Amino acid sequence: MDAALTMACTSDLAGMVRGKGFATADLEKKIARGIGWTPTNAQITCFDTIAESPYGALGDLVLWPDKETLAQCSLPEGRTMSFLMGDITELDGTAWECCTRSILKRTLARFNEVSGLELRATFEHEFMLPGGSGTRAFSLQGFNEVQPFAEALLTALEGAAITPDSFLREYGPDQFEVTLPPASALRAADEATLLREITRATANAMGQGATFSPLTGSEVVGNGVHIHFSLWTTDGAPVTYDVSGQDGLSKPASSFIAGILRHLNAVSALTAPSAISALRLVPHRWSAAYNNLGAQDREAAIRICPVSARDPDAQARQFNFEFRAADAAASPYLALAALVGAGTIGIEEGLQADRATEEDLSLLSKTDLENRGLKRLPDSLEAALKAFSADKTLLEAFPERFPDIYVAHKLGELAHVADRTDNERFAEYQTTY
Ligand code: GLU
Ligand code: MG
Repeated sequence: MDAALTMACTSDLAGMVRGKGFATADLEKKIARGIGWTPTNAQITCFDTIAESPYGALGDLVLWPDKETLAQCSLPEGRTMSFLMGDITELDGTAWECCTRSILKRTLARFNEVSGLELRATFEHEFMLPGGSGTRAFSLQGFNEVQPFAEALLTALEGAAITPDSFLREYGPDQFEVTLPPASALRAADEATLLREITRATANAMGQGATFSPLTGSEVVGNGVHIHFSLWTTDGAPVTYDVSGQDGLSKPASSFIAGILRHLNAVSALTAPSAISALRLVPHRWSAAYNNLGAQDREAAIRICPVSARDPDAQARQFNFEFRAADAAASPYLALAALVGAGTIGIEEGLQADRATEEDLSLLSKTDLENRGLKRLPDSLEAALKAFSADKTLLEAFPERFPDIYVAHKLGELAHVADRTDNERFAEYQTTY
């Protein structure tokens, strides 16, 4: 059954998907003419408050739906859902400074210009379906409990041309994980955005809630978003792996990683951007806690992922690394833009990543950490935002006024939860994301 209504959407500064609906019969017309949009919407926080806005009541924009992202999904109980993502421009057609998808496109173009390469990525999402048995990590029984949901999700995702690589019953209470196969970086961000919405809609249609919130309680396992990267030539040859490179990394891959790690504090303001995000980024949560590259280490900010292939060609194609200090409070477009922006600086400056760590860094002395240049991630969003505002090199990856607008947005979000206890914040973010 086709949905009579379709919604043209943007993933905004809050990582929320917002937009406007129209009759599906008008889809081609809307794609050709665009849909009106309001600048101050950029400052609607995840709590629906409006942060300080430079736009006020002024201005008009156009949201251009991109048919490549069209999702026409069959949901449980005979329900349907039709939506697609778009780019926002000024009335004269230039990219709008706060359009997250345009910002990602801009950083990808710059990456391509500087490196001559292309980037593939994929987002690994953890989420929870509260109300289940709460236990049975990785078990067949735990999996069976949610089989109807998992199969409904698979069906719904087909409508967005998304085929998951895996669906698992993760370790946390009622926690699941969906991984998707790698795609071009823009498509990866599109798919991450679509996946979150389709997962929520599938759960809702079954009378359930799904939450991707980074943390639902101080003693509870977090929901991470791990972003995998690989580098390719424009004619499709893999260039992430180099058998003789340190830790198997090619020169551009090592530089890309070094760029992210050097700008990590600032980057985290866009990848882990909620008032509770930093509480997940501490040792022994299997998330990320230090500015390190790790091999075989699920607490590294960037982890070199294992490959199962034996022959060198297949190994080179599988080789990838993942960024672990991200969560679903971030718009996938902004998270990726920050990472690509920082990685591109690394390539431009010919940086080289330090050797991958292989131990529990939380056990090292302060002096050892200092000697090796290892630092903890920012302990609050406020600290990350300060690092972002101060990182002049990284800021060049963004439209000129964007950083100030983004910081004002996030300060507005923080103000909303300023008087809340941690537990109240967990509860509030759980319903938000
Ligand atoms: N739940 C962990 C996180 O918050 C990730 C666990 C894993 O898949 O390694 O990132
Ligand atoms: Mg996981």
